[in-house]
Amino acid sequence: MRRKLVIGNWKMNGSLAANSVLLRGIVAGYAAQNADCGVCAPAPYLAQCQSELTGTPVAWGAQDVSAYAAGAYTGEVAASMLQEFGCRYVLCGHSERRAYHHETNEVVAQKVLAALNAGLTPVVCVGETLEEREAGRTNVVVCAQLQAVLDVLEAAAVEKIVLAYEPVWAIGTGKTATPALAQEVHGMLRKQVAERNPVAAANMAILYGGSMKPENAKDLLAQADIDGGLIGGASLKVADFLAIVHAA
Ligand code: PGA
Repeated sequence: MRRKLVIGNWKMNGSLAANSVLLRGIVAGYAAQNADCGVCAPAPYLAQCQSELTGTPVAWGAQDVSAYAAGAYTGEVAASMLQEFGCRYVLCGHSERRAYHHETNEVVAQKVLAALNAGLTPVVCVGETLEEREAGRTNVVVCAQLQAVLDVLEAAAVEKIVLAYEPVWAIGTGKTATPALAQEVHGMLRKQVAERNPVAAANMAILYGGSMKPENAKDLLAQADIDGGLIGGASLKVADFLAIVHAA
């Protein structure tokens, strides 16, 4: 039985004051029985996450990482730096990074390697655009995104990643994939991982993301291959985020 995992992706939202309310609310209300939980904060707030969350069951992480270990990369944040601030997770290849920062499948794969080298758990995000779905290319697109990562990993390292399927057309739009539609892609992704490492596939958390809310979380999380959620908008409200965590 895979343990559920719910991760909040704050995106570029927050302030010291607002984060403090949010983090304290999550810690106070989180009942850890069925699901692990974490928050991915903007990099400047990782120190705050570390000071508020150390010693609690709530993990934290970053939303991006440099593919490089160190050096002349102005504006970049290295995986070792995230590790120093206690991060467990780092999102790699979120669709907003792919779209607005031109991250290719190959760059995302290098980021995954950088994260693993620093002992972090990369949350590898894959997903198709509306145009790609309508053209019948969903499977081709998400499989290529996943394969680029699998290609750079040793078989054993595949056990150390988390996957997130986030259809781009469902992110922040209020349109959620139906549970059946999401399950179809999750099942396919797990099979693809199994071709490389069957044990990793059986144990891997594959999260769904894209307008997951308290109202639809239970049905999505009831699907055989949906092991949790990557939550954007709804992760900014204590009650909504905890309702999703506790639905898992
Ligand atoms: P959303 O975002 O929950 O606001 O749709 C999900 C994400 O982009 O990770």
